[in-house]
Amino acid sequence: INVDEIFDVTSFNIDREPHIVLDPQVCVGCDQRGCTNSCPARCYTWSEEDQKMTFVHDGCLECGTCYVVCHRNAFTRWTYPRGGFGVSFRMT
Ligand code: SF4
Repeated sequence: INVDEIFDVTSFNIDREPHIVLDPQVCVGCDQRGCTNSCPARCYTWSEEDQKMTFVHDGCLECGTCYVVCHRNAFTRWTYPRGGFGVSFRMT
């Protein structure tokens, strides 16, 4: 199963309160930005032109990869969504 197939059987109940929050200034000084390549949901986008990291939590699959790969601990918050919110996987 690939990521696109996972999204086909996935639903989200989006919490307006993001469960992951970045300090964008930490990302500016990062020389790796592994989150942009490793997040399966592509929640992270780095703009070279603006020198800015954008994070959108809506499609987060709660895999924890970004927490592991961020060697600068850019998170001011990293938790799982509150109960009843976040991703729901349906097994086929
Ligand atoms: Fe992406 Fe996984 Fe981090 Fe969610 S937990 S933002 S899916 S890497």
